[in-house]
Amino acid sequence: MVSTANNWRFRPAYAMVNGGPDLAPNSAPASNAGSECGDVEFTREYVEALLNERPKRKDRFSLKEKCDSLTEYIRRLKPVIRWFQELEGNYLLEHEKLQNSLEVSELKRSEMDLLLKNKVEELNSIIAELRKNYASLQEKFTKEELDKMAAMDSLTRERDARLEIERSKYSLSDELERVQRDLTSAKQQNASLSDMYKRQQEYIANLQHYNSKLQTDLSAVEEDRKRVETEKASMVENLGMYRGQLQVSRQCQDDAVKQRDALANEVASLKLELQQARDDCDQHQLQVQSLSAEFTEYKESTEKSCYEWGNLTSKNAELEARCLVQSDQIKELQDQLMTAEKKLQLSDLSTMERRAEYEGQKNVISELRTRLADAEFKLIEGEMLRKKLHNENLELKGNIRVFCRVRPFLAEDDSNTEGKVISYPTSMDALGRGIELAQNGQKHSFKFDRVFIPDVSQEDVFEDISQLVQSALDGYKVCIFAYGQTGSGKTYTMMGKPGDPEQKGLIPRTLEQIFKTRQFAQPQGWKYEMQVSMLEIYNETIRDLLATNRSSLERTENGTAGKQYTIKHDANGNTHVSDLTVVDVHSAKEVSYLLERAAHSRSVGKTQMNEQSSRSHFVFTLRIYGVNESTEQQVQGILNLIDLAGSERLSKSGSTGDRLKETQAINKSLSSLSDVIFALAKKEDHVPFRNSKLTYLLQPCLGGDSKTLMFVNIAPDPSSVGESLCSLRFAARVNACEIGVPRRQTYTRTSDSRLSYG
Ligand code: ADP
Ligand code: MG
Repeated sequence: MVSTANNWRFRPAYAMVNGGPDLAPNSAPASNAGSECGDVEFTREYVEALLNERPKRKDRFSLKEKCDSLTEYIRRLKPVIRWFQELEGNYLLEHEKLQNSLEVSELKRSEMDLLLKNKVEELNSIIAELRKNYASLQEKFTKEELDKMAAMDSLTRERDARLEIERSKYSLSDELERVQRDLTSAKQQNASLSDMYKRQQEYIANLQHYNSKLQTDLSAVEEDRKRVETEKASMVENLGMYRGQLQVSRQCQDDAVKQRDALANEVASLKLELQQARDDCDQHQLQVQSLSAEFTEYKESTEKSCYEWGNLTSKNAELEARCLVQSDQIKELQDQLMTAEKKLQLSDLSTMERRAEYEGQKNVISELRTRLADAEFKLIEGEMLRKKLHNENLELKGNIRVFCRVRPFLAEDDSNTEGKVISYPTSMDALGRGIELAQNGQKHSFKFDRVFIPDVSQEDVFEDISQLVQSALDGYKVCIFAYGQTGSGKTYTMMGKPGDPEQKGLIPRTLEQIFKTRQFAQPQGWKYEMQVSMLEIYNETIRDLLATNRSSLERTENGTAGKQYTIKHDANGNTHVSDLTVVDVHSAKEVSYLLERAAHSRSVGKTQMNEQSSRSHFVFTLRIYGVNESTEQQVQGILNLIDLAGSERLSKSGSTGDRLKETQAINKSLSSLSDVIFALAKKEDHVPFRNSKLTYLLQPCLGGDSKTLMFVNIAPDPSSVGESLCSLRFAARVNACEIGVPRRQTYTRTSDSRLSYG
């Protein structure tokens, strides 16, 4: 308002300033009807003068005059006040308008921010694309270059091949000529041979002719001889006379025979010669044939090489054409490259611009980041508030809670007994919390903090207790029991089915969550140390499931002297079990290894104890020691997860010896547990913690300032209805209890950081 007062605009003073009543605000223009002062504006001097004005009176004691002057003063003051009020109203209006326009421009600014961001992204993507294009072009170019080189190479190789072929062509034509020459000579030889053959034929014919002539001669001689013989016969008579004649003619005959023999010899030799000539002729003919075959072969190969040569020439021409085309393409690509480079330069420029804009945006972002950090801080504060509310919520609910879980029907369940014995009410207040059990036609209704029907998965069950697990990290003592008859699903709830991650139980899931949360808490300065121990209470005797010395384990089983495992509580409410193995753990993996080890030593015991695992209590303890380096705050939480022995009532009458002892031990410990819970609920002076090993061990965790959850496990088969009713009744009594208020254990640093049970 001070500023508005200082911003009074200067206007020529109205007559009013001088006290002239004729120019009073009432005489404002008609357009300002409703506003008594209208357009009239007052100066600061006028208002100050008016405020400082002292009434001038003639008669100091005349009340009337005093009254009149005051009325007049008030009359003059009124328009000023109205004007001032109007002015203030206007200022407020203007202020609001300005606020609106500020918001609008703020909105526009954020829109512009968004647009700019989009633009930057778009440009970045264009640049990336261009770069990619450039790279691909470059790649293409190098590829083309390589292709060209390869083509050149192949061209030179083709040329060489062509030359080689030409050379071979020349040598082939030389050879062809030689062969042709050979052929002609062979032909000539052939002709001469056929000539000779003809001549020989003629000669043979002549010889034959001569032979026939000789034959005719011979026959003539024969006839002569006959004639001579006849003459001889005629002449025998004239033997003596003609003996000389006979001698001569005999001589003549011998000569003729000799001549004939010689002629026959000649014929035979001629025949031989003829045969030889024929053989020669055949041989020549064969030679001629082979030469002609060779000739045709040469001819063919020559034709082939001519054809190849033609092919190569055409290929060469083709390659040259391709080379030309590729050079063109390369030129084109180079052009493209140039333009792309130019574009790149341009986009680089625009990128620079965008970068400047981006820097601006970055500043805005860093501002937003600081805001985000603020928001995160608020979130942490919210988380702290959530924890507080959760604990308050628990306090309201009472720190002992009961969840009921019904397992599904199993194949081995007795399916003969008819009907379903368990039902779940659907009324609004009992939905998810109520369970009804029918026995002998009578319906028993129960209500718990939560009822899990058989379909509910391990994961969903865990979701409901994860807050409780979180509390252990926040420094609370947490105890989760599984209670129920043997076969009702206690071990399934606590451990799950080994080997199936979907069916992991509460213990492995709890550990996973704790280690995960530990990681998240690190940035806030929290460091945690964890220690695990696992034990079994059988026949009121403690067995260390992580003991490495097996002999001591076995001796203890027998109840004879071994390690004593005595339980002691110190003044701070911490519990120590002497000789118990306590292992420092750093990851969920390590703990699952320890669980396996414990399961193994439990199963070793099991074979020796005749399926006695359901006759013992399994206690898993995780001690958590957290320290915040920055705040020096320390927390000490403890988480006990307990798989109790089967709760079925055992008839003592039939049991003897070890079995009786075992039965008594279970009955004693379970009834001690309920006694303790009920005594705590009734706030009795004496709570019988010492009545059993289990209650004594868990004394600090049951003692009122812890968070306790009991799972009551129920088998759905009709044959278990009696046991189920007992379990539900017990659970209902526990549910009605209210024990103390959970208390968080926080300290400042101490020298001894070794942890204990409570
Ligand atoms: P307990 O430990 O109470 O004696 P178990 O946990 O060994 O009982 O359970 C008995 C059988 O029932 C086991 O075979 C187990 O796998 C099965 N079972 C128990 N609860 C469930 C469930 N919610 N879903 C599936 N199977 C279950
Ligand atoms: Mg079991």
